[in-house]
Amino acid sequence: MDKALKVLEDITSNGYKAYLVGGYVRNYLLDLPSNDVDITTNATPKELMEIFPESIPTEDYGSVTINKNAGKYEITTFRKEFDYVDHRRPKEIKYIDDLYEDLLRRDFTVNTICMDKDKNIIDLLNGREDLNNRVIKSVGDPKVKFCEDALRMLRAVRFATILDFTLDDLVVEAININKQYIKELSYTRKKEELDKIFSSPNAYKGIKLLLDLGLDKELELDKLKDVSPTNSSLGIWSVLDVVDKYPFTNNEKELINLINCALKQDNLDPINLYTYGLYANSVAASIKNIDIKDITEAYNNLVIHGRKELDITSENIISIINKPPGEYISNIYDDIEKEVLYKKLPNDKISISNYIRDKYKD
Ligand code: ATP
Ligand code: MG
Repeated sequence: MDKALKVLEDITSNGYKAYLVGGYVRNYLLDLPSNDVDITTNATPKELMEIFPESIPTEDYGSVTINKNAGKYEITTFRKEFDYVDHRRPKEIKYIDDLYEDLLRRDFTVNTICMDKDKNIIDLLNGREDLNNRVIKSVGDPKVKFCEDALRMLRAVRFATILDFTLDDLVVEAININKQYIKELSYTRKKEELDKIFSSPNAYKGIKLLLDLGLDKELELDKLKDVSPTNSSLGIWSVLDVVDKYPFTNNEKELINLINCALKQDNLDPINLYTYGLYANSVAASIKNIDIKDITEAYNNLVIHGRKELDITSENIISIINKPPGEYISNIYDDIEKEVLYKKLPNDKISISNYIRDKYKD
């Protein structure tokens, strides 16, 4: 907080107005942590870059970002927005000098509460009342707001989910009227919002909201109704089965694949625990409502957790079989891993060597 107020001080001491706004103030009043700090000011990006030479302009040059003291500050100039295109972004913005006008272009009242450098709360649109009533209310007519920018509908669901707020009736009505525009949003944007909904401890409420509002269709999430409460967003994505449509990193794809494999198997079976690992089996177990403690215990009790823990090397196998290296090595490995995991064969060099000799030596 002190660091954020210091940034405000740096701007105001140069003769400009500046306030904390958005998620940071909202979360502060709710006693919740924030990842980034949003600041609104009448200083232009150019003027801000003179005050903070280390700041980086955003892609559209409409705001600047400062990364310092392990914090991320996004400073945006008071603005009016005009002529929305693609139901997402304004074609034109105009810098203005008035905080109230700037707040009017924002999405929800709880995101318009400001704080000045002396920690005074400035609440021009009654955001605090809605915060106390735990309700997501639109700034202005939500029918207009959601038609201008369809992402706001997903943001509404996201805030209702992570804050455990309700959606104002007018917001629900406006979503029903405008939801078809969600299809026009990029999958990247949609995934960002869905990730935030799915990674919330309250994700199941978000899923129910999406279903009640019929957004599963607009988001092309045909299997959303099959998702059961789980504490893993990747577990939810696994059930949704949309890797071909939504953008995932290679790492996410790999984990989703492992979870999908683990979902089809008995997650307490040693070979499945070993093959798909603790993470994928735990996620699969949480989806199937199996106690994670049992999974962790069974995993910890595995005789081996990787090939390296077997008391035999490929050199040993080659010398026992006495043939040039070939595919047979990995077949033998697969076999002894299974025997050791099922505790049919002790994990010691002599026992394993004898087993290989008996079974594989011509
Ligand atoms: P988070 O906790 O995710 O940071 P946030 O409310 O701060 O939530 P940001 O995306 O950081 O959300 O945006 C900062 C502020 O900018 C919002 O609180 C809101 O006032 C305004 N804002 C952001 N996106 C939109 C939008 N699509 N339409 C209108 N206002 C928006
Ligand atoms: Mg923010």
